[in-house]
Amino acid sequence: MSSESTPLIEVRALAKSFQLKRSIAHRVLGRGPRSLRALHDLTLTLKRGETLGIVGESGCGKSTLARCLVRLYRPDAGSVLFEGEDVARLTGARLRQYHRRVQMVFQDPSSSLNPRMTVHQALAEALAVHAMRAPETISGRVIELLELVGMQPDAAERFPHEFSGGQRQRIGIARALSVEPECLIADELVSSLDVSVQAQIVNLLLDLQHRLGLTIIFIAHDLRLVRHISHRVAVMYLGSIVEIGETERLFAQPEHPYTMALLAAAPELDPSRRSLVEAVQGELPSPLDLPPGCPFHPRCPRAVERCRIEPPSLRRLRSGQDAACHLPLGGAG
Ligand code: SF4
Repeated sequence: MSSESTPLIEVRALAKSFQLKRSIAHRVLGRGPRSLRALHDLTLTLKRGETLGIVGESGCGKSTLARCLVRLYRPDAGSVLFEGEDVARLTGARLRQYHRRVQMVFQDPSSSLNPRMTVHQALAEALAVHAMRAPETISGRVIELLELVGMQPDAAERFPHEFSGGQRQRIGIARALSVEPECLIADELVSSLDVSVQAQIVNLLLDLQHRLGLTIIFIAHDLRLVRHISHRVAVMYLGSIVEIGETERLFAQPEHPYTMALLAAAPELDPSRRSLVEAVQGELPSPLDLPPGCPFHPRCPRAVERCRIEPPSLRRLRSGQDAACHLPLGGAG
């Protein structure tokens, strides 16, 4: 039984790897299959009504995490709890409920919008699948949904290709909202849009969150947008969370050297901070061949011998942030 204090979503020690096909060279050398580690021992909680921003370099596992949350991928280990219930065990009506209550919105809305359906047909289909409205009220609800995302009623009779990228994202959001979810997972929702349109879509999400009490996971590259929309931010590196905390505190006083480097490397943030920090050094290690100890140690200016041997675990620090580092920047708590 869930209560108000139960997190909406809790991720416990999640792990996911992908088996890669053997290359010809591997076969000739008689080597076995290779495994790419996408998520490792990833733990986090999502409170009801909050926006959690997730940031990190490409390939750090952000999208794999999102896909595990909506059961597009089955994790190898660990669990995802929704209101305290393990989603891997949900079947039948309870699984359908979960798919309704947790909706994902993708970077490319054409993946969820059928090009041969008008907007009305697409939204009406979503309403019908989950029996959200009586058939005679569906047309009115379609118009309401369009207004909710800032679109005119006449959009209903047009096809997806007739809209700009930003408008298509609005339609994708309307489709997700049609089933009245509690949680929206926005995976690089605005990455392919112009900067001014990105801001409009992010402000739309903020507005929707206030009006509908949504819980949002906002996955993005742009730290300025993440800072604008998120209550808390999680920083991912090579499949794990290396720091998580309240947005303003994390941006003002990061604890993990990787967070510090990521902020320093972001041109959109305060340039005066740049002289205080060192940008990320070196290449991201291959997820096929991860370094021992702390996965960030080959790039970390603070690395000591212990870092090369012992992987740090995520722990609460004096600052209130959680960081996975033996030598956090604000000192151990
Ligand atoms: Fe750097 Fe060591 Fe902290 Fe890893 S554990 S981030 S290598 S100081």
